Amino acid sequence: MANTPITVAHGDGIGPEIMDATLHILKEAGARLDIETIEIGEKIYLSGNAAGIAPESWESLRRTKVFLKAPITTPQGGGYSSLNVAVRKTLGLYANIRPCVSYAPYIKTKHPVMDVVIVRENEEDTYAGIEYRQTDQVEECLKLISRPGSEKIVRYAFEYAKRFNRKKVTCFIKDNIMKRTDGLFHRIFDTIATEYPEIEADHWIVDIGAAKMADTPENFDVIVMPNLYGDVLSDVAAQIAGSVGLAGSSNIGENVAMFEAIHGSAPRRAGQNLANPSGLFLGAILMLVHINQPDVAEKAHNAWLRTIEDGVHTYDIFKEGVSKEKVGTKEFAEAVVARLGQKPETLKAVTYKANVAETDAKPIFSSPEPQKKQLVGVDVFLDWWKGSYYGVANELGALVEAVNGDGLKLQSIANRGVKVYPGGNPDTFTVDHWRCRFVSEAGEGNTVDKNQLISLLQRLNEAGLDVVKTENLYNFDGAKGYSA
Ligand code: NAD
Repeated sequence: MANTPITVAHGDGIGPEIMDATLHILKEAGARLDIETIEIGEKIYLSGNAAGIAPESWESLRRTKVFLKAPITTPQGGGYSSLNVAVRKTLGLYANIRPCVSYAPYIKTKHPVMDVVIVRENEEDTYAGIEYRQTDQVEECLKLISRPGSEKIVRYAFEYAKRFNRKKVTCFIKDNIMKRTDGLFHRIFDTIATEYPEIEADHWIVDIGAAKMADTPENFDVIVMPNLYGDVLSDVAAQIAGSVGLAGSSNIGENVAMFEAIHGSAPRRAGQNLANPSGLFLGAILMLVHINQPDVAEKAHNAWLRTIEDGVHTYDIFKEGVSKEKVGTKEFAEAVVARLGQKPETLKAVTYKANVAETDAKPIFSSPEPQKKQLVGVDVFLDWWKGSYYGVANELGALVEAVNGDGLKLQSIANRGVKVYPGGNPDTFTVDHWRCRFVSEAGEGNTVDKNQLISLLQRLNEAGLDVVKTENLYNFDGAKGYSA
């Protein structure tokens, strides 16, 4: 069988040691790899490249489409952009997959029965990094959730469940509050779930879902969620399974995939042959499955399980009474190599099927007819400060009412989402950031045109009111496309 070209980066801190250990096990297990090595991280940053990766390294990634990456150190101080974010975004790695498995009784955990896979959306949500300071007192972060983005990740989660024989996919969202953004994610989840009748589907509001996952992880299987919740909860899941130091993850795109440990470069442990290579190694197992070398993945993974079971542990998971031998990075790798061909006796042995990654990167997008979009008003955000956090809304109301006209009228004023005019409560806390909603004089839901919005802005400006942002109000096929 032909070798598969992959790109490898040894990274910083403990990176080179755990990468050497990982590649050593892979080689001895018979992995069929042609390795291209690239340099990323601290050295590249400090040589003046603010992205931490050289242009020719991108070419290697585009060529091999498979990236095994050790952790890197982002230098302290401003001006350095995150390499992980750059790689994820540039290569469109939309799915972050993190299996979180417990290895009781060999590795201490409160949850001896845990085998959860977190599927985290990786490109959207508040992580688009679109932020603004709008007033003296208020900063804004845009949360963007798209239909195609949600379809990609939700379908990926169900396809993953199907390919790896998982029984259930759970969705975590907060659509009781974020009815539009998380609501869209939830609706797409419900729709796509119907295409997989053999897989159980359920959903939780993320707060209680997270609590349940932390309390009874044995009741969960695959969990799919938007970016921010996934970022937080994948660390929680890895930690309660035993240790964040043990988890590997994959980042899947339509063309390229990246595999890594979830921990960082642990600079204080570097160069001492102390670090546990297991996180990166388990990332490499995901890679072997992805490049269709299930035989090698199975052999190496089972040898690793046997090593853990035999109590051969690095310092971070060593526990008196349970562990048998405390070893360094190299010795741990040798112990795994010595067990190649063996299976665990108590822990569950793994099996991997061929061609399971075939559909990894082929999203299917629905193409509903575009809905009729109707402009029905505008929210104008004002920077206005009268020196008090209480009882000033009516004063602003009078100023804004004065600009009514040309077919538009002020409907309400809200402050951070709380209606304060008309009929506000003088005890409501308000800051210098006001949302003034204008709708048609003929009533909400009637069409307005852009010229009316432009002249409204002119009148607000002439009245000395400081507009910091506007959001148009649209109906789609007659249904409100904005929050009440
Ligand atoms: P870290 O994950 O490097 O270390 C956290 C703790 O876990 C430390 O006590 C460390 O000694 C221990 N630890 C981590 N991995 C271990 C291993 N394999 N074996 C044994 N012990 C291990 O997190 P940090 O200290 O917050 O970050 C250090 C550097 O890593 C920072 O520069 C950060 O930016 C970077 N980082 C990189 C990545 C990445 O490249 N994917 C991810 C996270 C952090």
